[in-house]
Amino acid sequence: MRPQVNFENLEAIIRNRVCTVCEEKTTEAICGLDDPNHCSLFRLFPRVVEAILATDSDRMEAYVEAIREHVCSVCIEQKLDGNCDLRGDVCALDAYMPAIVDAIEEALGKKFDRKNLPNPPALQ
Ligand code: SF4
Ligand code: SF4
Repeated sequence: MRPQVNFENLEAIIRNRVCTVCEEKTTEAICGLDDPNHCSLFRLFPRVVEAILATDSDRMEAYVEAIREHVCSVCIEQKLDGNCDLRGDVCALDAYMPAIVDAIEEALGKKFDRKNLPNPPALQ
């Protein structure tokens, strides 16, 4: 059954898990992006959660595909050819995908067996 989602609480949990390790975080423990509201992970957070909830796999690739389909497809950073200059660079959603999937599934009570997983591919 689909878990109830309190997006506000869930965002607070993910900010605590991801922002604390994010390379964009400054020594003052704040987001160092020129516009912190532009962080794709939180700008598109409901879609990120929906994509992860709609995916049930022990393969990280399945989550990468779901994020590309449901999040990157509406992100203003993605070009018409599907490429994105922020992938592999400052997109926290791309950089911290395994931790984000883990944290969201854990917070929502889903199980995700990560043992024996290969390294996830970078979003292209
Ligand atoms: S870029 Fe995103 S994940 Fe990183 S510190 Fe800023 S708001 Fe948090
Ligand atoms: S990888 Fe690019 S298109 Fe996808 S969410 Fe991040 S910034 Fe947006």
